[in-house]
Amino acid sequence: MPAPDARSSDARTAGRPPDDVPGSSSGSRTMHGVPPRRSSTAPTYLGIDLGATKIEVVVTGADLTPLSRARAATPARGGPPAVITAIEAAVAEALATAPHGRLVAAGIGVPGHVDRATGAVARSPNIRGWTASYPLQAELETRLGVPVAVDNDVRTALLGEHRLGAAAPYHDVLAVWFGTGVGGALLLDGMIRRGRLDACGEIGHACATPGGRRCACGRRGCLEAYAGRSSMERRARERVDKGDKTTLFTLMRKAARTRLTSGVIARALDQGDLLANELINDAVRAAGPVIASAVNILDVDAVVIGGGLGTRLGQPFSRRIHRAMQPHLLHDGRASVTVLSAGLGDLSGALGGVVLASERAPG
Ligand SMILES: [Zn+2]
Repeated sequence: MPAPDARSSDARTAGRPPDDVPGSSSGSRTMHGVPPRRSSTAPTYLGIDLGATKIEVVVTGADLTPLSRARAATPARGGPPAVITAIEAAVAEALATAPHGRLVAAGIGVPGHVDRATGAVARSPNIRGWTASYPLQAELETRLGVPVAVDNDVRTALLGEHRLGAAAPYHDVLAVWFGTGVGGALLLDGMIRRGRLDACGEIGHACATPGGRRCACGRRGCLEAYAGRSSMERRARERVDKGDKTTLFTLMRKAARTRLTSGVIARALDQGDLLANELINDAVRAAGPVIASAVNILDVDAVVIGGGLGTRLGQPFSRRIHRAMQPHLLHDGRASVTVLSAGLGDLSGALGGVVLASERAPG
């Protein structure tokens, strides 16, 4: 058995991401109030959420209870090799502060198209420099020495929310993830759906306004063109160039950021910034009819709202989206679909990675 004081290092670091990366704010000693536990032989799982701006890593026990975590900034240069190195460092940090269990498997969610047969990631538009196929699964298995399951980031997060989070009571769930872009995923009868082209759930490119704003995908009027953080930043810069006043970029510089992060947008909203308010109003206005239409088609039990921006803006954002959906829902009022905020917060993706690992692990 470990010495009783062996938890002291966990007490300093478990549940507390480094302060110098985007979105770091938690000062809590443990995750979700669960104290770290030690076991020298118990199996442990590793979950990784690779995002456009940050990498989130969590280590759990066999019961999928978080034991430790680490966070790192996603490298802005160097493409997949730099990303792998950053993942490896964050994993080492998380394992160093976790009880000494036996790591049996890892799972990772990636914002891109994943070849599930090989675990290669074809391209990842939101990660700079990831422009060609990269054998992520093979590379991570070599570095970590355990089987690694790779899947799309929003599907992984939805799996986490369904097995461990807010979506647990529901069979049929649509996830809408507001982050750098707008991602989506669909779970029916408890199973993630993939579709003929592996494109099931891409709600970010559903049309909110025919002929509307240009989207990063090249089309016009997509939900992402109104509700993705990159698009919001582009529009904010255009407005500033035209002479509009906003605290958004002052807050960004104060936070030593080069992008309008979710935290910066949330702070500007709190301060009553008119432009930030307008951007979020536009996002909600675009999201209402698009998500309501998806619900009318799919008849799901619940919609779960998450992602960096969705998590940061929390339940008030989900409630506003639900209200914006109402006029477009075929079954409104008491029969209306449930709209939830992601219950695992920033850890939906990483804990989804743990679920992937545990469900695909041999034996
Ligand atoms: Zn689009």
